[in-house]
Amino acid sequence: MRNIESLGPLRARTVIVRCDLNVPLADGVITDDGRIRASLATIRELSGAGARIVLISHLGRPQGAPEERYSLRPVAARMAELLGSRVEFVDETVGAAASAAVGGLAGGDVLLLENLRFNPGETSKDESERRAFAQQLAEFGDAFVSDGFGVVHRRQASVYELAQLLPSAAGRLVAAELEVLRRLTEHPERPYTVALGGSKVSDKLGVIAHLLERVDTLLIGGGMLFTFLAAQGHGVASSLLEEDQLDTVRGYLDEAERRGVRILLPSDVVVAEAFAPDAAHEVVAVDAIESSRFGSSAIGLDIGPDSAAAFAEEISRSATVFWNGPMGVFEMEAFANGTRVVARALTETGGFTVVGGGDSAAAVRALGFADEQFGHISTGGGASLEFLEGKQLPGLEVLA
Ligand code: ADP
Ligand code: MG
Repeated sequence: MRNIESLGPLRARTVIVRCDLNVPLADGVITDDGRIRASLATIRELSGAGARIVLISHLGRPQGAPEERYSLRPVAARMAELLGSRVEFVDETVGAAASAAVGGLAGGDVLLLENLRFNPGETSKDESERRAFAQQLAEFGDAFVSDGFGVVHRRQASVYELAQLLPSAAGRLVAAELEVLRRLTEHPERPYTVALGGSKVSDKLGVIAHLLERVDTLLIGGGMLFTFLAAQGHGVASSLLEEDQLDTVRGYLDEAERRGVRILLPSDVVVAEAFAPDAAHEVVAVDAIESSRFGSSAIGLDIGPDSAAAFAEEISRSATVFWNGPMGVFEMEAFANGTRVVARALTETGGFTVVGGGDSAAAVRALGFADEQFGHISTGGGASLEFLEGKQLPGLEVLA
């Protein structure tokens, strides 16, 4: 992987830096600035080296046209606070105003361009459209630094094509994230436990096949646990269930048994009458979901207290723990206990702990834990899972 040093002296050169500044916003207010903070190391270093810095990023999923609610403007303001120096912002990505703003930069200055995804070329399926957009971006700079770890698994103009048009290198965040992921895949200290949860069930099932070859124990919580329970023949009432994945999940359970990998499923869950913060709820054993007082409308929204304690116990005995996906709907206090107990267990174990996933990272912060209490908090959920799956990531391949 080419690093920043490979670019040579940067004084007075214009460096385009692809960051992942895709932070959660509520009514225009940033609710978790973790991704901005994670971007600062590279920016400080380049600025200190006297480079003119042009930052590019996406935010949310606009459909190739400007939408005020996805503007990066609040991100520029927050970044300036964190850096303690000016961050200029221009409300277009390419065009005359952007070009003038880039032209006005002095050595050490930082400029953030508007959301890349306001331009259809960024995520186009058509390679020539992506190339054309990347070409417009490339005209702004002399070198490219790829530091948006959260997007390195995407074949997008600012991640993949742009890196081919300029001298390019991995930034410090990408390098740091990779070092952690290599530690997890190449020589994890054992016992190695992976806890999986969250809501993107089918996305995450893919990683399990690969993990079964590597881990000692898998803890299953979050939305996907109900597909596992159903695969074992339990009724799950109105809980999240991916029926087309039942056979796959049965296959995993069999393979785990053959390999001697333990898949730990919850023994109890919290079921609710509805998906709402104030919904009536109760704890039931996993074989009693359909006989709860909510009958067939019961929705499982968290792992139960016995399961949370069992998961915590398992984590405390592990030398390496990777956790992706909240154990329950932690955004609602009534269903946050499983996530809180698992997060606390990670902070208390002496092992090496990694939290991956945007919502998982937001969850630990929202529940009052500090980043320093974990070995590493990854800024990229999808990217880290694909890496653990053993896939080639386009945004990394292109920097090889
Ligand atoms: P990450 O971003 O960490 O990879 P995901 O995006 O997969 O995680 O999932 C996060 C979401 O999963 C959270 O918003 C949480 O509310 C939701 N979730 C967790 N458990 C359940 C459940 N049992 N049913 C529905 N949603 C759940
Ligand atoms: Mg998520």
